[in-house]
Amino acid sequence: MSTSFLYHTQGIRNFKYQKTEYQAGQVIIYIRSNDEHPCCPICHSAHVDTTQTVCRDIRAVPSGNKSTLLRVLIRRIRCKDCKAFKQELLPFCSGMYTRYTRALARYVVSLRAHMSISAVAQLTGLHWETVKNIEKEMLKKKFKRIPLKDVKILGIDEVYMGKQMGFLTIVRDMLSGHVLYVAKGKGVEALSKFNPRIRKRAKYIQAVCIDMSHAYSAWSKMMLPHADIVYDHFHVIKLMNEKLDSLRRQTMNQLDEEQKRELKSKRLLLLRNEESLDENALDNLKKIRFLFRDLGTASLLKECLRRIYILADCSYHAKLAFLLWCDKAEASGISCLEKMAKAIKQRLPGLLAYWKHNKITSASQEGFNNKIGWLTRQAYGYRDEEYLHLKIFDLPNLSTVKVL
Ligand SMILES: [Zn+2]
Repeated sequence: MSTSFLYHTQGIRNFKYQKTEYQAGQVIIYIRSNDEHPCCPICHSAHVDTTQTVCRDIRAVPSGNKSTLLRVLIRRIRCKDCKAFKQELLPFCSGMYTRYTRALARYVVSLRAHMSISAVAQLTGLHWETVKNIEKEMLKKKFKRIPLKDVKILGIDEVYMGKQMGFLTIVRDMLSGHVLYVAKGKGVEALSKFNPRIRKRAKYIQAVCIDMSHAYSAWSKMMLPHADIVYDHFHVIKLMNEKLDSLRRQTMNQLDEEQKRELKSKRLLLLRNEESLDENALDNLKKIRFLFRDLGTASLLKECLRRIYILADCSYHAKLAFLLWCDKAEASGISCLEKMAKAIKQRLPGLLAYWKHNKITSASQEGFNNKIGWLTRQAYGYRDEEYLHLKIFDLPNLSTVKVL
């Protein structure tokens, strides 16, 4: 093996190749430094004594499918100037105590776009935690500064990450899709660290997309007084689905055991979009609508509400359709529909702002939340919350290939 081969495959220079051994399915390459006069690793002084030599194993880029170790002879250095007594630095490692090469770290990061942490760990011979930490360091550098310079439309959403993690509040640039801020918890408190950053850019923000709760609209009025509040398609249908599901539970509680079981398994049938159901599911939905009247009315009105977003081409038509919808909902006498009608009437300007801002977000927000849901399902890797937050920052860049 030549020195140039070591440089081009492992990023190592100024080290002498000695020999290669093959042990237990591993390739072990012996190398030692060419530098006869090492410097102090702390103050870089040349006034040093080299004392004993220690042998260290450093993980390197695998050779084929075999994990590879560099067995390096490292000198200990006593500095006459700063009195430090340290191991010499290895230029191909990022730190004094790092036990993998920079080339391997770059290789791990490139593999993570296509492979799970476990698969990368198995291929490279690194520990699972080390692979995760290498990626974490890369993400930390990548998202050290997130500029708000070109942001015009903000989107704020809270996502439930399961019992252990609770809620996360996520702020995004709705035009580029970039994540601007992630914090634990929900509501205005979770945004407290974002406030100083957004305050400086407040006059440039044209609109803010939020859910229909009061918390974020109060925050928007306070922090972004010039921006339009937009209640987008995604959040309106989400709220309607929550109302529909609570009506399903109320209906279930009034039924005997057998009917209750039947309705229990039909949750998704009621919540899914009508056009994505197959013929069989559609027949079942029709049966439920016929058997349980209130639930049927609510399910039909949910579809009507969705149609407003599909059919209305301007805010004037949308306004007429929303008001008609509210009349129907109020006339139904069903409590949850009456509440939904009240919410729609109270927030009508925000609902119509969706058309003013070219129907922003509906698809991207849902897709983004699905990606977060998928991250949650991989939750075993996210006991490390900082890593989870960084992965969320990286989500818009994530390929559709299921990594992790
Ligand atoms: Zn020194």
